[in-house]
Amino acid sequence: MTQTIYLDYAATTPVDPRVAETLQQYLTPDGIFGNPASRSHAVGWQAEAAVEQARARVAGLIGADSREIVWTSGATESDNLAIKGAALANQARGGHVVTSIIEHKAVVDCFQWLEEKGFEVTWLEPDEYGCIAAEQVEAALREDTILVSLMAVNNELGSINPIAAIGSLLRERGVLFHVDAAQASGKMALDVARMPVDLMALSAHKVYGPKGIGALYVRRSPDVTIEAQMHGGGHERGLRSGTLATHQIAAMGHAFSLALEEGEAEAERLEALRSRFIAGLQGLEGVRVHGPETERVPGILNIGFDGVDGESLLLALRGIAVSSGSACASATTEPSYVLQGIGLPPEKAQGSLRFSMGRFSTDAEIDTAAERITEAVQKLRERSAARRATV
Ligand SMILES: *Cc1c(COP(=O)(O)O)cnc(C)c1O
Repeated sequence: MTQTIYLDYAATTPVDPRVAETLQQYLTPDGIFGNPASRSHAVGWQAEAAVEQARARVAGLIGADSREIVWTSGATESDNLAIKGAALANQARGGHVVTSIIEHKAVVDCFQWLEEKGFEVTWLEPDEYGCIAAEQVEAALREDTILVSLMAVNNELGSINPIAAIGSLLRERGVLFHVDAAQASGKMALDVARMPVDLMALSAHKVYGPKGIGALYVRRSPDVTIEAQMHGGGHERGLRSGTLATHQIAAMGHAFSLALEEGEAEAERLEALRSRFIAGLQGLEGVRVHGPETERVPGILNIGFDGVDGESLLLALRGIAVSSGSACASATTEPSYVLQGIGLPPEKAQGSLRFSMGRFSTDAEIDTAAERITEAVQKLRERSAARRATV
């Protein structure tokens, strides 16, 4: 491997080596490779036991009951199942749904699909820090509102929404609440016993587990009805058919149990790294940290550099893996819709980068990154000043 400094943990995390070891144990003839749905022999029973242990571990991180966890292929599928599934199962009660303009594409695109199908969508606008207030949600509710979907933590800003407060008011009004918690799990305490949410999307690869596996929390009490989006053998109580990926599931369970054990200490360490990184950029003028001061997770830092084009800065920072927005939108060079959604003009959004740190980030990496960024920004600014002088 080259000496790339990886600061894109919000796009994906490497698999923790301890988790990778688990992954290995569920594949080969000497491992637990069975089909968990095979009821007639021990090979199947062993796989089923592994799946159920993992289910309890994933449930454990969010304070849920094992029976409330449905395996999916990732948070994108979980969002699809929750949003389409809840809207379609409850359309007899009304056709109005609510979300925000800075949700992940997996949510935004589901709501656009619902709009095409005839549902009416209210698109809430966040404040300048990327947060949605409970009062805003309350003001958007109507007699025919059936579903609200908001993210717990924004993937570009790290901002935290007041999920418990919003959940309480929606519970009172009998409106279903889906929360995309892909960026929240492992980064902050989540407890569905104290947060009245009905549906919650989770992903393994943001929490040091493998890609291609996720889960949807579906509340049992009060009972939440959703329509399956994948039909087949009736796995997962009919909500998501398809042979369970035992190795992925066991690995996700392990990753989530590590997050439960180590998450709090990790957040403290990341907070210190964050301060160190910001201090390392002190030599630069015109640096703006986007997102809230306090209502945020420590690992995601979105920074605007005045007068600098983000794409040029990305190129100048070869050897440091960062992104100019979410990985899902980085096929385009359009300025981030999230940053524009918090009111940044396109050129300021374009001049911003997301730095996200995680479990394997070190002090030395953060120091080197800050130095390299300082140099690169100064050089780009000098170059554009020189260009202006010759015009
Ligand atoms: C990464 C991410 C997703 C998508 O998760 P996948 O498991 O990659 O499908 C959805 N929502 C948020 C907020 C994310 O950060």
